[in-house]
Amino acid sequence: TDPALIRNFCIIAHIDHGKSTLADRMLQLTGVVEQRQMRAQYLDRMDIERERGITIKSQAVRLPWAPGEGEEKGKTHILNMIDTPGHVDFTYEVSRSLAACEGCILLVDAAQGIEAQTLANLYLAMEHDLTIIPVLNKIDLPAAQPEKFAAELAHLIGCDPSEVLKVSAKTGEGVEALLDEVVRQVPAPVGEADAPARAMIFDSVYDAYRGVVTYVKVVDGRLSKRERIQMMSTGAAHELLEIGTNSPEMLPADGLSVGEVGYLITGVKDVRQSKVGDTITQFSKGATEPLGGYKDPKPMVFSGLYPLDGSDYPELRDALDKLQLNDAALVYEPETSAALGFGFRVGFLGLLHLEVIRERLEREFGLDLIATAPNVVYRVEMEDGTEHVVTNPSEYPTGKVAQVHEPVVRATVLTPGDFVGAVMELCQSRRGNLQGMDYLSEDRVELRYTLPLAEIVFDFFDALKSKTRGYASLDYEPTGEQTADLVKVDILLHGDKVDAFSAIVHKDKAYAYGVRMASKLRELIPRQQFEVPIQAAIGARVIARETVRAIRKDVLAKCYGGDISRKRKLLEKQKEGKKRMKVVGRVEVPQEAFIAALSSD
Ligand code: GDP
Ligand code: MG
Repeated sequence: TDPALIRNFCIIAHIDHGKSTLADRMLQLTGVVEQRQMRAQYLDRMDIERERGITIKSQAVRLPWAPGEGEEKGKTHILNMIDTPGHVDFTYEVSRSLAACEGCILLVDAAQGIEAQTLANLYLAMEHDLTIIPVLNKIDLPAAQPEKFAAELAHLIGCDPSEVLKVSAKTGEGVEALLDEVVRQVPAPVGEADAPARAMIFDSVYDAYRGVVTYVKVVDGRLSKRERIQMMSTGAAHELLEIGTNSPEMLPADGLSVGEVGYLITGVKDVRQSKVGDTITQFSKGATEPLGGYKDPKPMVFSGLYPLDGSDYPELRDALDKLQLNDAALVYEPETSAALGFGFRVGFLGLLHLEVIRERLEREFGLDLIATAPNVVYRVEMEDGTEHVVTNPSEYPTGKVAQVHEPVVRATVLTPGDFVGAVMELCQSRRGNLQGMDYLSEDRVELRYTLPLAEIVFDFFDALKSKTRGYASLDYEPTGEQTADLVKVDILLHGDKVDAFSAIVHKDKAYAYGVRMASKLRELIPRQQFEVPIQAAIGARVIARETVRAIRKDVLAKCYGGDISRKRKLLEKQKEGKKRMKVVGRVEVPQEAFIAALSSD
């Protein structure tokens, strides 16, 4: 295809503002999906995405479009629509998808207005110098306020309110005109046709039948079927078994040239061999300079995952191996917990990533799991000059600590003006530092904070929502690390440390944490035949204490002799209950107590 006829664009939006629905309408209007095959959110292929209405892996589809109006009227163009993941955990993938585009549609719900992800994505799009087409969606809603939000959006990106397009992805109103605008406004890709090939990988998906399917944009030169290609970050060479475009099903071709977007298959079985952000070139006489921007995905949040039933350990390992084929950001290694047995320490990009993986393990692989409270990665410098990277709080070094470093994020909170005080209070209580504040309009305020990642991974989002009656939105990205006054708090049952409950917390919060955990556990742990002290401690210093009183638990006494079958039933029930107990030292702790103690409230 002549690059002059290609338009590469993506849709960026806050969650639920209608990106997937708009993509559906575009598939329909351009005729690539027939009416009767159409189902809602055609491109969101994973079950969890569909149920939660979120897009995790991006996809690219090729849409032929001949504008009905304007200079290019009647000339068929190729629009490559690249669907980006919409969540903060996947910022790096969003950024790679944007790098494959020349323009973007900034989609905003006409009943909601601008939200935090709208801004975060807009900033990313501006960093990539994309042409931005502002669009209000859902104008069919009675609650829509298109004039008000068009003004807000125009103010934000510095255009005239009349340039903000208005569509309904649901009814299709305005979508054809939007496709025409994509052709008119988005620049055609530029690249050197005669140079050695350089293609950027913006997505990489594992398929059980075909192995890894890699999505690329060819920036320079041409990639052809059957030639040998090379991954520039590792030097690994592969044969190009198949190359083609998505319309939206895979359609093989002879090759892809400058500006084209499509997929390729080399037969590799693991996405880590075909990494998002990497550059592909020819094996012989290839390019010497990779395209910029490649980064290894870095896990930010860790949690211990343990099978509820210890004999499921091999299944858990197999399931993680399988998921990793499709997820280069997922890392794990075996670990043993005195309290929970054999399991894995698993690293995630963020909390949503964690939830998605956990849900897939439980749903697709039928595993019942206990997950320890998520924690961030700490870098601990010791006075003797050694350094430890701590991903499991129970492995916090003993000895003399010189300094602890924790990861921090730059957070953007958008809130109606009435809640500015509440938001500030919350951020302050989470050790946040206000970096700036802007009024986007009379009743919409943007607050920028740096916050320790540890303070927001757990329940920050819920707290923010409840303090602002659901009106505030949040986005954040990692920006580095800071030193902090952190300590490790241990929980002891009957004098034995429960490793799964150890946590690294700020010194000022250690006491409150200890008290909360001790009293929570007192409620959760059933009485035993002896008294069970519960203690929270920093090193050897006890900071909180509770006691579970002893009881002689003679359930049979309730049976008044007589009824033998009833007695037997009770005994069996008690035995069953025992099976689901974990024994810590001398204390029997029900599984449910672990789960409840590790949950966030
Ligand atoms: P995404 O999270 O940005 O992909 O949003 P979705 O496309 O999943 O849409 C979120 C919700 O808004 C769904 O329930 C859609 O049916 C609904 N929706 C999307 N576009 C429109 C629209 O133009 N009008 C109305 N009334 N609802 C819409
Ligand atoms: Mg979606």
